[in-house]
Amino acid sequence: MIVGYLGTQIDNDAYDLLFRLNPPAPVKTQAVVVGIDDATFSAMGGTRRMRPILTQALLRIAEGQPKVVAIDILLHDQGRDPSSIAEDDALATAIRKNRNVIMPTNLDDDRWEDPAPIFVPSGAVLGHIKADIGSRDGVMREIPLSRASGRRRCWAMALEAFRIARGARDIVESPADIEIGNRRIPARYDQERPDRPLRIWYSSDPVPRISVVDLVGKPELAAQLKDKVVFLGVTSLSSSGDRITTPIGPGHPIPGVEVHGQAFETLERGKFLTDASDSAVLGVCVLVAILAGLIFHRLAGWPAYLAGAALLAAALIAPFLLFRNGIVFPYLGPLLTAWLTVAGAATYQSLVVRRQLRKSEVERARYRQAIHFVTHEMRSPLTAIQGSSEMMGRYNLNEDKRKQMAAMINSESKRLARMIQTFLDVERLADGQMELKRDPFSVQNLTQTCLERVRPLAERKNINMIAAEPLEGDLLGDRELMEYAVYNLLTNAVKYSSAGTEVSISCHPDSGFLRLSIKDQGMGMDAHELKQIFTRFYRTKRAEASGESGTGIGLSIVDQIVKHHGGRIGVTSTPGKGSCFTVLLPAHGATNPIPGQYTRNKEPRAVEK
Ligand code: ADP
Repeated sequence: MIVGYLGTQIDNDAYDLLFRLNPPAPVKTQAVVVGIDDATFSAMGGTRRMRPILTQALLRIAEGQPKVVAIDILLHDQGRDPSSIAEDDALATAIRKNRNVIMPTNLDDDRWEDPAPIFVPSGAVLGHIKADIGSRDGVMREIPLSRASGRRRCWAMALEAFRIARGARDIVESPADIEIGNRRIPARYDQERPDRPLRIWYSSDPVPRISVVDLVGKPELAAQLKDKVVFLGVTSLSSSGDRITTPIGPGHPIPGVEVHGQAFETLERGKFLTDASDSAVLGVCVLVAILAGLIFHRLAGWPAYLAGAALLAAALIAPFLLFRNGIVFPYLGPLLTAWLTVAGAATYQSLVVRRQLRKSEVERARYRQAIHFVTHEMRSPLTAIQGSSEMMGRYNLNEDKRKQMAAMINSESKRLARMIQTFLDVERLADGQMELKRDPFSVQNLTQTCLERVRPLAERKNINMIAAEPLEGDLLGDRELMEYAVYNLLTNAVKYSSAGTEVSISCHPDSGFLRLSIKDQGMGMDAHELKQIFTRFYRTKRAEASGESGTGIGLSIVDQIVKHHGGRIGVTSTPGKGSCFTVLLPAHGATNPIPGQYTRNKEPRAVEK
């Protein structure tokens, strides 16, 4: 509610500002205010002498023969004592001396405050004198053209004055406007505002004014009223209590009777201020939001910010331009939409840019690590080859030693070639550029080879390697790749275990599959780490802290190799207690691996630790 109130207030303040920036062109209208001002009160008696003052004024006005006389002083009660009765009679007579009189009425708390019947000449029209009922800040921006209570309805005094001045008999109504003569007045009727509010386009020049004391003292002034529309009321701001603030500013309060005059002038001028419809406001807000989205979708960097600022400026200026064309557009909604959407789109864009930057940084890091992997993994065979060849060249070695060195160079260079091949094969397999070999080989043979190769490493760390018999079963696929996978799992088990522990490997047939498990008693991993270890280049903090070198690429390759063989890898682990990597692969020669027991998308069954 507070937000709604504040929003309305901001829109109203913006309206008042626009108002001051766009004064209507002054025109000569028919309205004249005949005012009971301070001078009148001091010369002709105070407020208690109101009725005799009115009487004298009306007599003089009648001499001027105006077209319409609208009286803005409620003459609700009648006097009881003889002198008051005489005053009232005189006033009633003076009223009747005028033609086309509009008497005031007011709807207060569902009760009409009508003038006493004595003051209403036959054929006189009643016009209500209620001002802005929607204004919460006391600024009079609009008047309700119609007011109704029960079955009785009354038009505003200014509207009745306009109708009579135009010589029109009827006021023709439609939901969107009312029509008098051929003047269409855009005062919409709807459920929310059934009183047809009309914004008054105040002129900064007051309606021409004649003081009652002058009019009474100088009979020749009455001639100025010929064929005019006279609004008779109190213009003394000190005694009337009817000081009204208009959008022109709090420094320029005007009396109530002047408001009627200004409303009449607005009707006469025929240039109206109308509120933009709710759907138009909504449409503009949606358009602003779409534009903000498009700007930051299509543009980047300073052009985007420049276009965003232009959009904000447009949202700021548009109500001003519309106002000049008589359309009152709320300030806050579209401006707030522009701010929020521009800020939102800019934030979103910077997030996306940052994410892309992060992605490219990750890719660069990966590339660096791939280079690191190649240099690191290949360094040891290269060093062996380099050292052996140097020794052979520099020293005179005996035949046996020379043969040994040559054999070492041969085996290490083969290992190097295999390593490069594996790396490339896995990359190509992943890219779908290569078909997997489909040769049968025994698990027993495969694990023996791997164990042989890992043994020196295990012995150095005093780790006991156990192969749980029987390692039965055959596999179908690429033995080289599978060897890389098993070897990698075994080296990890050794690398990430402390001295004196055990690493065991076992293989069991399981419903058409072979379940190959490698279990250690090492540092283990927690659940969070387990989720990431198959991601390339990921290494656990524990592994980094252990001082064991690694690149974090091995397991991702193992995972790919296993997948390409139609299998899946799973891990269970407890930090500080050990890990168990289980590879489930289709057994070669198994007639029917039980469907559903294991599919590529399913995790292997949990493995006990
Ligand atoms: P790395 O070259 O770092 O060993 P891997 O891809 O083979 O790369 O392994 C990824 C990470 O998974 C390792 O850095 C380590 O943190 C963790 N890891 C792999 N095997 C084990 C294991 N048996 N015990 C504890 N942690 C392991």
